[in-house]
Amino acid sequence: MRNGGVDRRMVLRLLAGSAGAAAFSVATEALAQAKTKLLAKPHLVVLDPGHGGVDPGAIGRSGTYEKDVALSTAREVARQLEATRRYRVRLTRDDDEFIPLHERVVLARAAGGELFLSIHADALPNASMRGASIYTLSEQASDRQTAALAARENRADLIAGIDLSRHEPVVSEILLDLARRQTNNLSIQLARQLVTDLGHQVPMLTNSHRSAGFAVLKAPDIPSALVEIGCLSNRDEERLLQRAAYQRKVASGLVRSINDYFDVIAKA
Ligand SMILES: [Zn+2]
Repeated sequence: MRNGGVDRRMVLRLLAGSAGAAAFSVATEALAQAKTKLLAKPHLVVLDPGHGGVDPGAIGRSGTYEKDVALSTAREVARQLEATRRYRVRLTRDDDEFIPLHERVVLARAAGGELFLSIHADALPNASMRGASIYTLSEQASDRQTAALAARENRADLIAGIDLSRHEPVVSEILLDLARRQTNNLSIQLARQLVTDLGHQVPMLTNSHRSAGFAVLKAPDIPSALVEIGCLSNRDEERLLQRAAYQRKVASGLVRSINDYFDVIAKA
C-alpha cells in the first residue's frame, strides 16, 4: 500500500523528533569514522637516495661513493617501512642513474607523496668529525657549514647542466606561500622526530638539525627533510656506512621517526 507506507514514515519521523535526529547523526558519524579507518590507505612515503649516475656525491677516504651508500640505505628503509604495512614507498631512483633535483620533487608530487626524505652521506673537511645530521629548507642557511653543504648538494643539477629557473611552477604566490608555511611547520616536526629517533640508533653531529636552501626540499606541499646518515670523510664511519647491519640500524631509526611523525600529526 503506497499511501500507507508514506503515512507510516511520517508518523515515525514525528515520533522520533529531535532525539531521533541526534541519534541518527551520531550513528552516521560513527559509520563514517569506521569507514575512514577501513579505507585508510597506507601513507605514501617518497624516499630520495641522493646523487646517482654521473654524480657520485661525496667520496669517502677509502673511495666509497655517497650515491651507493644512499641507495642501499634507502632500499633498506623502504623494506622496513613496507613491512609495517602502514606505508607505501616510492624511490626517486632505484638504480645508479642521474635524476635532476627538481625532477625528484616533481616525481614526489605526482606520486602523491605525504612525506619526502632525501638520504645522503656527508664529507666534511675535518676528518675527525662524525655523526648524522638532519636538514630542512630555509631561505637563510642556519650556519656557514650548512650553507656549504646545501651548495654541494645543489651542485648535482649543475653537473648535468640543468637550468632550474625554467622549471618554476606558475601558481598564485599567496596560496603557495600559505602552503609553504604549513609544510615548513610539518617539516620541522619531522626533523625533530628524526633527530630524536635516529639519535637513539647512531651518533649525531652537534646541532644536528640545521636548515638551508636545499633544492630537493622545495616541494611547497610535501613535508620534507634531508638526512646525512654519517660522514664518509671519517674512516671509521665510512667503514660502518657500507655495512648492511649499520644500514639496518640507521633505517630502523628513520622508520621509527616516520612512525612517530604520522602519530603526532594524526593527534593534532
Ligand atoms: Zn649528498
